[in-house]
Amino acid sequence: MHSAIINDTTLRDGEQTAGVAFTVAEKCAIAKALSDAGVPELEVGIPTMGPAEIETINCIASLGLKSRLMVWGRMCEADIAAAMQCDVDIIHLSIPVSDIHLQHKLQQSREWALAQVAYYVSAVHEAGHEVSVGMEDASRADPAFLDLLARQAERAGARRIRFADTLGVLDPFSTHEAIRRLRGAVDMEIEIHAHNDLGLATANTLAALRAGASHANTTVNGLGERAGNAALEEVVMALRHLHGLETGVRTTDLVAISQLVARASGRPVAANKSIVGEAVFTHESGIHVDGLLKNPSNYEGFDPAEVGRQRRTVLGKHSGSRAVRSAYQALGLPVIDLQVQPLLERIREHAVHTKRSPTPDELQRFLLEASSALGQAS
Ligand code: MN
Repeated sequence: MHSAIINDTTLRDGEQTAGVAFTVAEKCAIAKALSDAGVPELEVGIPTMGPAEIETINCIASLGLKSRLMVWGRMCEADIAAAMQCDVDIIHLSIPVSDIHLQHKLQQSREWALAQVAYYVSAVHEAGHEVSVGMEDASRADPAFLDLLARQAERAGARRIRFADTLGVLDPFSTHEAIRRLRGAVDMEIEIHAHNDLGLATANTLAALRAGASHANTTVNGLGERAGNAALEEVVMALRHLHGLETGVRTTDLVAISQLVARASGRPVAANKSIVGEAVFTHESGIHVDGLLKNPSNYEGFDPAEVGRQRRTVLGKHSGSRAVRSAYQALGLPVIDLQVQPLLERIREHAVHTKRSPTPDELQRFLLEASSALGQAS
């Protein structure tokens, strides 16, 4: 793997999430944040939705962002006409490629699909636009037909083919095989569009890049239809740590962008969401906290500072004596050996009853209780 170009589709597939709708201001703010962070390409909307969407897309275009902009449409007259009203760099034209979609959605043949690609891609390319061709439901299509269709797109002047695992039914092995085959069939950009229905979107994206895909479609927080898409933050961090590959995305911006998208989408981020979740750098268990205090690399795969965050330890049911001493030390309250075990038991009891860590006031109270109990005992 030599490089991977991120094409973030938070503003297209992300907004396609059921119940999610961004305002113009939100779309512009998200586009600006992604561009400022160094995301090279943004898929920003679906022009055929109407004049308001076209206006929003052109509002983003007027910001003069560094990111290249793409719009999404079906491979038909109306969608292409709408896309041409947008001041963007790439027009993405999607066409179903599985027999299931061709027969049961469109009542069309494979030959029809090939003819559509030949006609529309040539027309848009000759009109001076960069064209990307989306193969919808590629994962359930006949691989030999994908080769044919991709070659047709290449001949017609498309610069990119997008392999869409529309239903999220691939695993990293099948993804690798499919992309490896496509890589052998055409000499053009290949983009992976993965869905997370089985929790494999990021893994499949990495597999596709390893098999020769040049571009990865992502969304912030993994937003997107149903279970969502490959998460921008996961793909960027995994490429850095597993493949030593920099995407040009400034990772210290990821948390702020995640929060911006969470607010605008009304989809809060789970506490344990990789990279950007509130709790993913928080430790409680005695063994882990002791190891971290000795050397953070004992229990951290990467430094939280890479994403502008700090490790945190909390006291709870699984705490050990080292964490108790360290917590009281941080409060300026030295603890003697005899107090540690009773404090641990009190903290565990508290955690089970309240489902949360004790506050500094509560810790202080526990210490007073432990001290007076010791005083009575002696
Ligand atoms: Mn999708």
